[in-house]
Amino acid sequence: MANLGNPKATIELIQKHGITFQKKFGQNFLIDAHVLNKIIEAAEIGKDDCVLEIGPGIGTMTQYLAEAAGHVAAVEIDKKLIPVLAETLAGYKNVTVIQGDILKTDIKAIADRYNGGRPMKVTANLPYYITTPIVMGLLENDIPVDTITVMVQKEVADRMRVGPGSKDYGALSLAVQYYAKAELVANVPPNCFIPRPNVGSAVIRLTKYKEKPVRARDEELLFRLIRASFNQRRKTLANGIGNSPELPFTREQAAQAIGRLGLPAAVRGEALTLSQFAGLSDILERV
Ligand code: SAM
Repeated sequence: MANLGNPKATIELIQKHGITFQKKFGQNFLIDAHVLNKIIEAAEIGKDDCVLEIGPGIGTMTQYLAEAAGHVAAVEIDKKLIPVLAETLAGYKNVTVIQGDILKTDIKAIADRYNGGRPMKVTANLPYYITTPIVMGLLENDIPVDTITVMVQKEVADRMRVGPGSKDYGALSLAVQYYAKAELVANVPPNCFIPRPNVGSAVIRLTKYKEKPVRARDEELLFRLIRASFNQRRKTLANGIGNSPELPFTREQAAQAIGRLGLPAAVRGEALTLSQFAGLSDILERV
């Protein structure tokens, strides 16, 4: 089977199988070998690795992964693409295609079966409509995965990696950075895909922490505080916390805790670091 990382081979395959791109599944296939190589390189995939690929599509990145990795398990939701994958991946003995929805897939069972339960590396050109549930599911649940190298919408990549002081800083930044170190690998323009998405894209690498960078005695409270402060971004942090139906604290209790942290009374949530949110959470936990 011809290498797919180029427009000609991809268009030929699509015509041969009469494939229509499913917008509802976020199908934008990569056609740029340079970008594909960059993803494989950034994910640091070697023959000892088992890779979980989310959404193999017609198998473009899967071919690159199969060359580099020990084993590839690829989960694809679109039943119509399964025979196409059988054809494009026929030359590789180390690939398993699983038809299903990644959000309902038992990833631990895949690691048990293909990697002796050891952590896998996740790579994907993600379907953008479910980026956050996929990434947060991989981070929050105790799933055997150590790195996640994925193509996402550029704006989402920015939100995942920035800190206080950026307009993109928010609940997603803090949630991702609580679990992983986030690094930008590359910005990717729309012409690297077929069909072209109408947003810019970026590859981001998330390396899961073995030890969390901050400790909060009550993790759930920490995330309620984060949500409350960004739900009402324009309000002061004290008002955001005082008004939140998810939290039992009054505005005054919040203001006192903010004062104890040494922050100004009118501070907004968007000015706090993850470690300051953890400090606030520990103070309020004792109220
Ligand atoms: N990996 C291919 C590539 O780079 O050319 C295709 C990437 S395309 C952006 C996203 C892929 O994810 C599509 O093949 C789509 O059918 C698949 N997909 C969408 N939702 C999914 C889900 N819930 N579970 C598994 N795969 C899904």
